[in-house]
Amino acid sequence: MIQYFSADYVIPVTSDPIKNGIVAIEDGNIVGLYRENDPAVKADVEHFSGVLIPGFVNTHCHLELSHLENVIPSKTGLIEFIGNVVTKRGQDVERIKEAMVEADRRMYESGIQAVGDHVNTSISAEVKSKSKIIYHTFVEIICMKDDEVLNKIDEARDIEFYFDPNHSSITPHAPYSCSKSLFKTYKKSISDDNIISIHNQESEEENKLFRYKSGEFLKFYEKMGIDVDCFKAQARNSIQSYLNFLPASNHTILVHNTYTSIKDLDFINRMARKVTLCLCPKANLYIEDTLPKVQLFLNQKFDIALGTDSLASNDTLSILEELKTLHKANKELTFLETIKWATINGAKALGLDNEIGSLEVGKKPGLVLLKNMPNLKINDSVEVQRII
Ligand SMILES: [Zn+2]
Repeated sequence: MIQYFSADYVIPVTSDPIKNGIVAIEDGNIVGLYRENDPAVKADVEHFSGVLIPGFVNTHCHLELSHLENVIPSKTGLIEFIGNVVTKRGQDVERIKEAMVEADRRMYESGIQAVGDHVNTSISAEVKSKSKIIYHTFVEIICMKDDEVLNKIDEARDIEFYFDPNHSSITPHAPYSCSKSLFKTYKKSISDDNIISIHNQESEEENKLFRYKSGEFLKFYEKMGIDVDCFKAQARNSIQSYLNFLPASNHTILVHNTYTSIKDLDFINRMARKVTLCLCPKANLYIEDTLPKVQLFLNQKFDIALGTDSLASNDTLSILEELKTLHKANKELTFLETIKWATINGAKALGLDNEIGSLEVGKKPGLVLLKNMPNLKINDSVEVQRII
């Protein structure tokens, strides 16, 4: 049976907003978009006060860290944060699973339709297989020791085996946690459809490491017993040092970009790769107490997407809350631009744009209502309600 829903505005995302528009849905599939009083609408229409949008895409999360909500101290900087996650993440398996089920439920209710989710273990496989959310799982590789490279890639493949083969890939974790020789071997070992998602320039310490071989990461390596004698200062920021190590034809999501400069963006542009910049503003405030320089990213050639990161560094897993944070800090942003970041751009980055990310006939993108949103402006009073 076809159901009809209308609202003050319908935002299809990939086409113009429709004032007093109507969305027709059958079994979750979009079967039509109409203007008010369209004679093609032959049944009752359920009207909502607010704005109807497709389900959100959370391009970056770590579901398996959900049990660390309110555990890790905030605003310590990235290196202390990583140390805390490493020492505090191990807990009772049942407790971890319960926290993931709850986080998955909260994400779905807050209108999230798909998630790009990083893992180091297979513990989230069961939750994901039962979820209403579509997950793309990124199995992280962390490897600073040359003699462990092959083993670490094999280990990642073994973990990937537990997840949906159509929605999983293996990926380097971050430039500071992967050696040059890992990058080289990784490049040779993946196929063209393996989506890459790498933490990028989340801390200025990462740039210091690559630029001058100095800063907090050196102390961190010493503490962890990692020998970086062979690593040479590159006299340029991290992204300019490692992007060429990644295979050119694979879609690459650069996550965070908090300390990415205009020069770095020029460099990425010159490389002419399929790159999505994923911003996680609330996690940046939690860990580094700063925000990415959004104004630099506007009008660039690459897409911007949004992620929540994990509950270890966030108090919500809500894309609406990420939008509120960005709009509060950047008054020049318009909702009609950022709604793409929150939906279709993430869907494209995860290879899901044929199914979700916009209200288009033939897609099954979910239907979400934003309430208390006069003049299509995002402010603190906007609330989200899942309709379908
Ligand atoms: Zn992350």
